[in-house]
Amino acid sequence: MEEHSKWYEDTAVEIAQHRDRLTHQGSRKYKLGLLLRASGRVDTFASGCPACRLFQREISRVVEDTDNLSLMSQEQRKNYFQVIKVVVKHLKEEHKLIGQRHNIIAWALIGATIGIVISSGWGTTQIGIGAGVGAVIGLAIGIFLYTKSKKEGRLI
Ligand SMILES: [Zn+2]
Repeated sequence: MEEHSKWYEDTAVEIAQHRDRLTHQGSRKYKLGLLLRASGRVDTFASGCPACRLFQREISRVVEDTDNLSLMSQEQRKNYFQVIKVVVKHLKEEHKLIGQRHNIIAWALIGATIGIVISSGWGTTQIGIGAGVGAVIGLAIGIFLYTKSKKEGRLI
């Protein structure tokens, strides 16, 4: 495990406290697992990335803003999800990280689409088979890339 700063340790404590106050469903709804992983990433990139340093402050602000996430005002809630979204987008685009599930599903869909296009040339009864085979191939590619990214430590 890489070294983390005091900021990360404090943030992890805050996030854990939020998690304790929520149900399992609540933690999922507020993406606490993702927020914690993204915080760890932001922390490792912060020394060389001004945007990540800014995100550290933003993340601190949203986790400290309220004691109970489920009691946030509409405005706070909007801001909370916005911060997570912007941070994750930055990690993906600037630091070449990938999300946990996103890519696998995307590949399955691409596979299914290609399968439909190819099989539509064979007649209407084959489209379902084409889509199925395409989805399976897409899924296999997605899982391969996911495993590869995981090995390279590029998952958020
Ligand atoms: Zn950054």
